[in-house]
Amino acid sequence: MIYYKECKKCGGDMHIRQDTYGEFKECVQCGKVIDLSELPVTVSTATAEASKSNQAA
Ligand SMILES: [Zn+2]
Repeated sequence: MIYYKECKKCGGDMHIRQDTYGEFKECVQCGKVIDLSELPVTVSTATAEASKSNQAA
């Protein structure tokens, strides 16, 4: 599975890889790695920010 232009470092395409540590996304251009186990934290943070915005409005 390819994630186009997902890399925050270079804007390149990322793909899912898996090793003994689990699944992670790796940039095919620069090799940057994002551990997928970190993603739920990012999502919940974004949701919290959205909730704050809704309350303010
Ligand atoms: Zn990259």
